[in-house]
Amino acid sequence: MIPNYIQEFQPPSRILMGPGPSSVHPRVLQAMTAPILGHLDSQFFVVMEDVCEMLREIYHTDNYMTLPLSSTGTGAMEASCVNILEPGDTAIVCRNGYFGDRLADIARRCGAEVFVVDSTWGNPVDLEALDEELNKHSNVKMVGIVHAETSTGSLSPLTRAIELAHEHDALIVVDAVTSLGSHDVRMDEWDIDICYSASQKCLGAPPGLAPISLGSRAMDVINERKTPVQSFYFNLKDLEAYWSQTRAYHHTSPISMTYGLRESLRMMMEEGIDERLKRHARTSAALRAGVEALGLHVLADPQYRLNPLTAALIPEGVDEAVVRRKLITDYNIEIGAGLGDLQGKVWRIGLMGESARESNVFAFLSALERILPDQGYEVAYGSSLAAAQQALADFSG
Ligand SMILES: *Cc1c(COP(=O)(O)O)cnc(C)c1O
Repeated sequence: MIPNYIQEFQPPSRILMGPGPSSVHPRVLQAMTAPILGHLDSQFFVVMEDVCEMLREIYHTDNYMTLPLSSTGTGAMEASCVNILEPGDTAIVCRNGYFGDRLADIARRCGAEVFVVDSTWGNPVDLEALDEELNKHSNVKMVGIVHAETSTGSLSPLTRAIELAHEHDALIVVDAVTSLGSHDVRMDEWDIDICYSASQKCLGAPPGLAPISLGSRAMDVINERKTPVQSFYFNLKDLEAYWSQTRAYHHTSPISMTYGLRESLRMMMEEGIDERLKRHARTSAALRAGVEALGLHVLADPQYRLNPLTAALIPEGVDEAVVRRKLITDYNIEIGAGLGDLQGKVWRIGLMGESARESNVFAFLSALERILPDQGYEVAYGSSLAAAQQALADFSG
């Protein structure tokens, strides 16, 4: 038997319209083929500086501690919790989807006593419930909230949640994995203490880096810890030494990934941050109009819909896995399945970063119009495309 690995691997060029990773522009892939520099090379320090500077712009922050962690988004969740929380601390996590659940899990693993504020999946975080929970405890150290719940397609307004946390002298940790680069995230103006994201959702790079930013209040808490941070890899004080003037070795930076992130952020600067957000709003308006014209329901309340991800309820009698398989085999389009409580109940259609293009919306809708009738779900051909066209014409942004 000849092993398969002797063949060169040539992945198909998919249209990535799931919950991430999203498609990556050839410019970014090209940047990643540049020669490798050492992680202590002065030329690489320039690359690091550029990345941090652009991340500060995108986060709208002056925070000195703004850098990409060598991990995916989950690593940034770990880093946030493990640096802030000490065994016996109290934390509150808002849970309105799968990622809120993960954040609570991680906080618990740090030895904190975690209280969860639950909201129905698909709804934004319940701020009254958060207020009530905060009033039950005298020493909450951290409030965790997911800005953009990628499992449900809902966006939670942040400003009041941040105010509530600060009224109780708690730090606010914001998961902006899917909102950074697609919705407004204003670190300084909104007074966020810790905010993290991931390279592969709306920033337009491959998975592998997790930009994080920490304000002075968060750094003070870290500096005043009584116990050492349990994680060596994510110990932010040591990472600060590598990313600051000291440039002390901590771990080897993923050099090519950093080139890739630099190029993807540079593309965002060229496009303009506001234009980037508007592109997400415009393409998602077209997508939603299209799926609704086919009689599908969007899970999230219209007021709280996330632009880079739409969760659409699967119609009765339709085999959701067959539809997804056909989309990928016949049309080269990847969308996501439901996660956690929504497994088998929704499709998650992403328009993130480079994937947020009108051409992708039309490719997806026309494929769906072709596939659904095989499942016994009749559609009027062209109806979703016309609705999407109309939404684009009506879009005022
Ligand atoms: C994708 C995602 C994560 C996890 O990121 P990974 O890169 O998969 O580790 C965390 N939070 C939210 C809201 C996400 O969408």
